[in-house]
Amino acid sequence: MNMNALEIINLKKVYREGLEALKGINLSVKQGEFFALLGPNGAGKSTAIGIVCSLVKKTSGQVFILNHDLDKAPEKAKCNLGLVPQEFNFNGFEKVINILINQAGFYGIPYDRAKKNAEYYLKKLELWPKAHTPARFLSGGMKRRLMIARGLVHEPKLLILDEPTAGVDIEARRFTWDFLKEINRQGTTIILTTHYLEEAENLCNQVAIIHLGNIIKNTSVKELIATLPTQSYILDLKTAIPFDFVIPEFHTRVIDSHTLEVDCLANQAIGDVFIILKSFGQDVTSLRNKTNRLEELFLNLVKK
Ligand code: ADP
Repeated sequence: MNMNALEIINLKKVYREGLEALKGINLSVKQGEFFALLGPNGAGKSTAIGIVCSLVKKTSGQVFILNHDLDKAPEKAKCNLGLVPQEFNFNGFEKVINILINQAGFYGIPYDRAKKNAEYYLKKLELWPKAHTPARFLSGGMKRRLMIARGLVHEPKLLILDEPTAGVDIEARRFTWDFLKEINRQGTTIILTTHYLEEAENLCNQVAIIHLGNIIKNTSVKELIATLPTQSYILDLKTAIPFDFVIPEFHTRVIDSHTLEVDCLANQAIGDVFIILKSFGQDVTSLRNKTNRLEELFLNLVKK
């Protein structure tokens, strides 16, 4: 049976001042999915997640976690859910391992199993050497990993992460991505919010976009990416190019002697540009998107 890990039905939230943060959203996340929740600031993502995690009171609608109604069977629903908020909200004076054991205790997990789980996740997240260190002495990256370990210590079937890699360096981001991919492969359903399209592209198979309290798109990541029209990339080159330099079959513009702008249509791969440049004896030293693709995507969707 393909059970939904999360089912949201006609969910509404009106804040006290009359602001409609969610205007009746419907969302299904199947078990095993890696799901991205995208949306500009103020779209309603945190409100939706807050309601699912019982941190925000809904105005109306229903939420089911692994088929358990959050209103009628809150404990069963909550046992299946792990949350990794963006802000560090553990007690910095507590030792790392105790943070995990105590958290498992809140979910009624017996001490021995809590200890075993804590050890398992601390090792997986490379925090074991810090197990007996008060959390406030950890580096920023370690604190983030501790938040993830804490979200998993009661072995939830659904893990929700609010911008898990906001502001972290590339190496730490890769580590987090690999870890999340692994637990998803092992069966944990994951929902994350992100501001990085690359993150959704790399990790997720499904995506919903929230805008002004409505879900305006709910599709596979592949389909979403395919709707992106032309991508423009800026390439920094190792050796100088002439001002009339062109690459066959691609639209290019020479910005200066070491910088080339390349347009890539939906059916073209930027990798091919690298191969062609290489055949001209050119190495690319760095590459970046000319524009923020996620912002472009939002703009396109909202315009329609
Ligand atoms: P996102 O997470 O996508 O940035 P939020 O869910 O935080 O969006 O916010 C959705 C809307 O609800 C915004 O207009 C925001 O200002 C408003 N909002 C969020 N929290 C509160 C609150 N506690 N009281 C009043 N308005 C709020």
